[in-house]
Amino acid sequence: MIGETSLACAKISEDPAADLPLLDVQGLTKYYGERLGCAKVDCQLWPGEVLAIVGESGSGKSTLLNVLSTQLLPTSGTVNYRMRDGEMREIFSLSEAERRFLMRTDWGFVHQDPRDGLRMRVSAGANVGERLMGVGERHYGRIRGAAADWLDRVEIEPDRIDDQPLAFSGGMRQRLQIARNLVSSPRLVFMDEPTGGLDVSVQARLLDLLRGLVRELALAVVIVTHDLAVARLLSDRIMVMRAGRLVETGLTDQVLDDPAEPYTQLLVSSVLQV
Ligand code: ADP
Ligand code: MG
Repeated sequence: MIGETSLACAKISEDPAADLPLLDVQGLTKYYGERLGCAKVDCQLWPGEVLAIVGESGSGKSTLLNVLSTQLLPTSGTVNYRMRDGEMREIFSLSEAERRFLMRTDWGFVHQDPRDGLRMRVSAGANVGERLMGVGERHYGRIRGAAADWLDRVEIEPDRIDDQPLAFSGGMRQRLQIARNLVSSPRLVFMDEPTGGLDVSVQARLLDLLRGLVRELALAVVIVTHDLAVARLLSDRIMVMRAGRLVETGLTDQVLDDPAEPYTQLLVSSVLQV
């Protein structure tokens, strides 16, 4: 244990950018015409940290996630991202090519509906392999090998590698989407209700799997969920949103066990229908 701790410290101190966040969000605001999506959100995400965005339906969770992941443009505000070379860059000031490169190499996005994140009519192996090709891998044997390895890690039988996701159950599709996202070793993964569309028993297993992978890979994750049990299981820190605004943020256990804001107290006591 002691050895592990000192090793971790040594690693951190070797990294010149260790005291910089991975994401630094300032005043992020998104209007859809007149309608508010989210307003004046400030937050930071640290390497290896899992941040859950919670709140009732319509509170702006998906809006915030979609702006952070550059799928939507903000009305105002900035998002600085620490690139692999340590430099902080404002993501909306990047060129389209740079932004696409980032999405292909450094980032992942796990959609609630796996159909949005998979190619349904190409094989499971190709779904995973395609992401590797996106980061420059060209060797067929290595791509196939890595795809097989990742299918195994997400508990998909090896003999399904040539099957299309169309033939998979919802839980298998979601596990495949996770493999497709993680095979390229991203540093940051966005997830929007990744267990939302699944049966309760399937959800529990997927959550276990996700938790193991996130820890093992020391992934930084921004996860949107209306399910506080999911936030409890996966996240280090929570941001509570209401009507597009951030109402409370803190360590997960602290926010859930001892919420400071009356709104969070209602949310935690399940008085609110979320
Ligand atoms: P959540 O994910 O927490 O349910 P959303 O981010 O989807 O919340 O929505 C936040 C607010 O923005 C809601 O009032 C919603 O109606 C509105 N909204 C979301 N998407 C759009 C859109 N494409 N056009 C107009 N309004 C939208
Ligand atoms: Mg949503």
